[in-house]
Amino acid sequence: MRLNCLSCGYTIDMDNAYGDYDGQIKCVICKAVLNIKTEEGELKSTTVAKAGQLNSEKSIFSRA
Ligand SMILES: [Zn+2]
Repeated sequence: MRLNCLSCGYTIDMDNAYGDYDGQIKCVICKAVLNIKTEEGELKSTTVAKAGQLNSEKSIFSRA
């Protein structure tokens, strides 16, 4: 099962343990925390609980 991070677009690979899940998952790339809800292996809803860090890091680098 896969989920696109709403913050950075990274495809998060979730194993079958998340086939029936209602809770939070953290993106390994941007550290965003997403609220997800799945039922029977299908993604029902995704919302951002905490925005990722990737964009702010990028803006710091572009200033240098
Ligand atoms: Zn992300």
